[in-house]
Amino acid sequence: MADKLIRGLGLNDEVRIFSLDTTDTVNEAVNRHKAYPTAAAALGRTMTATVVLGAMLKGKDKVTVTVEGGGPIGAIVTDADANGHVRGYVQHPDVHFDLNAQGKLDVSRAVGTNGYLRVAKDIGLKDNFVGSVELISGELGEDFSYYFYHSEQVPSIVALGVLVNPDNTVKAAGGLVIQVLPAASEETITCLEKIASEMRPISQMIDDNLTPEQIVDEVLGDSWRKLDEMPVEFECTCSKERFINAIASLEKNEIKQMIEEDGGAEAVCNFCRNDVWIEKEELEALLEE
Ligand SMILES: [Zn+2]
Repeated sequence: MADKLIRGLGLNDEVRIFSLDTTDTVNEAVNRHKAYPTAAAALGRTMTATVVLGAMLKGKDKVTVTVEGGGPIGAIVTDADANGHVRGYVQHPDVHFDLNAQGKLDVSRAVGTNGYLRVAKDIGLKDNFVGSVELISGELGEDFSYYFYHSEQVPSIVALGVLVNPDNTVKAAGGLVIQVLPAASEETITCLEKIASEMRPISQMIDDNLTPEQIVDEVLGDSWRKLDEMPVEFECTCSKERFINAIASLEKNEIKQMIEEDGGAEAVCNFCRNDVWIEKEELEALLEE
C-alpha cells in the first residue's frame, strides 16, 4: 500500500482529523541516512508530524521542523510542503539504545529532553511564522501536542509511531492527529480527552497493519467522516544548480582552492545524501562572474 494521508472531521464536525501511513517514506529516509533503529524512530516520528503540519498549509507554502533536545542524535531537521512531500535528516543517524522499560525504542534518550521543538512556516510572507516550545518528553508525539497547544492554541491528540525491523528497515510508520476546532463544545473537548487516555499506542495499531481509515475507526468509531486523501512521499528539492549557488556565495579564495586542490567540488545534500560533482569549468565560471 502506498503511503497516504487522509483528512476528516469528527465528533459533530468539531474536531479535524489527519491520519497517515508513512512506512515507505520513512523507510526511504532511514535507508538514505543509514539510520540505526532509535535514530530511525526519532527521524520517522518527526517526518510523520511534519507531513501533517504540511497538510495544514496551502499552495506553495512549506514548513520546516527542527528538534534539538541535547541528546546524542543531535538535531533533527525535516521539511514538508502542502502536497505530502517530505524530507529530513538527523545529525547523528548512527545512534541506537536498548529498548526502554516499555519494550519500545528509547527515542527520548536519543533525542534528549533539554531543548526545543521549532516549527517555521514559509507562507509566502516576508517573515516566516515561527513557533517554538521546550521539549517536554523527547518522545516527540507529546512534544508536538504541546507545540500545538502552546504555540497555536489548538488542543490536539498527536500519536506517532515507527517500528523498525532487526535489519534496520522500517516495518511500519504512521500517525494520527486530532485537533479541536474553535467552535467545539466543552462536551467534545471532554470526550476527546477521554479518547486520548483510552486509545492504545499507535505503534500497536500500525503493527496490526491498520490503514489510516481503520485507525480513525478504532479511535472514533462511527462518529467521523473522511473528507479527502493525498499521497505521501519522500522528495528532496536539491539540485546541482542549488549547490552551485551555494558555492557562489563563498569567498573567491575558497573557490580557487577547490579548483587547484581538488579539480572541482563534491557537494552532498544533507537531506537526501545524494552527491553531485561540480566540474572545474563550472567553478571557474563562478570566478568570472
Ligand atoms: Zn537532496
